[in-house]
Amino acid sequence: MNVLVTGAAGFIGSAYVRTLLAADDAVRVTVLDRLTYAGSTDNLPLGHPRLEFVHGDICDPALVDKLMADADQVVHFAAESHVDRSIDGAGEFVRTNVLGTQTLLDAALRHGVGPFVHVSTDEVYGSIDTGSWPETHPLSPNSPYSASKASSDLLALAQHRTHGLDVRVTRCSNNYGPRQFPEKVVPLFVTHLLDGRKVPLYGDGRNVRDWLHVDDHCHGVDLVRTLGRPGEVYNIGGGTELSNKELTALLLDACGADWDRVEHVADRKGHDLRYSVDWTKARTELGYHPRRDFTTGLAETVAWYRANRAWWEPLKRRAGRPGGTP
Ligand code: NAD
Repeated sequence: MNVLVTGAAGFIGSAYVRTLLAADDAVRVTVLDRLTYAGSTDNLPLGHPRLEFVHGDICDPALVDKLMADADQVVHFAAESHVDRSIDGAGEFVRTNVLGTQTLLDAALRHGVGPFVHVSTDEVYGSIDTGSWPETHPLSPNSPYSASKASSDLLALAQHRTHGLDVRVTRCSNNYGPRQFPEKVVPLFVTHLLDGRKVPLYGDGRNVRDWLHVDDHCHGVDLVRTLGRPGEVYNIGGGTELSNKELTALLLDACGADWDRVEHVADRKGHDLRYSVDWTKARTELGYHPRRDFTTGLAETVAWYRANRAWWEPLKRRAGRPGGTP
C-alpha cells in the first residue's frame, strides 16, 4: 500500500512518516513537500527503502495528479502553519492551505484514493472561555491562518458529502516535541534561553493552550486513518492545559533561567484566549488517549533541543522573523 503524505518534511508530518514506516512493513510512503522555510529533508529518513521523497507543490495539479495515480491513501499535513506569519500576510496561507488542499481533493476523487486524512486544527473553532468543543461545534476562526484551515477543513468535508470521497478530518491541539521549527513557542523559547537571550511573552501571558506530544498526535492521526469513519471529524487533544505564563515558567525552569529573561511584548492581534477540544469521540470510537506524560515529554523535548543545536541553528537563521508565542 502506498500512502501519500504531504508536508512531511515539516515537524508533525516527519514524525508521522517515521512512525508509519516503523509500524507497518506493508506500507510504502511517498512524501510530497515544497521545502518552504519550514521544511527540511533532514527531518526524514531519506534512503529508507520504502520512502520516496518528491520535492514539489501541492498546488501543482499535474504533479499531484501523477502522484495520486500511484497512491492508495493520503495523509495531508502540508500547510503554512504559523499564525504570526498569516497576520503579516495571508496570501500564501490561502494558496497552500485552501487551493492546495482542493487540488489534492480533486486528484484523490479522480483516482478514487481514500481514506484521505485531512489534518486540521483546534483553532478552526475560534476561542472558548470555559468547557471544550465537540466536533459538532460551528467553526468560527479568528486569524487568517485558522480561517484558511477552516476553509480547507470544510472543503475536505464537502468532497465527502458532495462526491462521496472517503475523507476524515482531525482537529488537534498544540503540538510539542523534537524537530518543531524554532519559531513556535516551545522551540523558540528553549533555543533563545539556550543562547542566553530573552524570550518574548505576548500580552499578559494568560492565553491558554492544550499541549499534545507530537507522538500522541501521530498515533491519533493513524487511528483515524485505519479505524475512523468516512466523512467524520475527530478532535485529538493532549490533556494538559497551560496558560502561556505557566508554560514559560516550566521552560525557564527546564533551562535554568529566571523571569528576568522574559520580555513582555505587545499582544498578538486578535489573539484567541483559549482553545480546548473534547476528544471523547476519538477515545470511545478509536481507543485514542494521549500516552505521553507532559512533564516527561517536555523534559525530553528540551533535552533534544539542547543536544541538537546543529539542527536548529541554521533554521533560526533561515526563519527571517523573530517568531512568537502560540
Ligand atoms: P510545519 O510548518 O512544520 O510543516 C509544514 C510542511 O508543509 C513543511 O515541510 C513545508 O515545506 C510544507 N509545505 C508548505 N507549503 C507547501 C506546499 N504548497 N506544497 C507542499 N508542501 C508544502 O507544520 P506542522 O507544525 O508540522 O503542521 C502540520 C499540519 O498540522 C498543518 O496542516 C497544521 O495546520 C496542522 N496543525 C499543527 C499544529 C501544531 O501545533 N504544530 C496544531 C494543529 C494543527
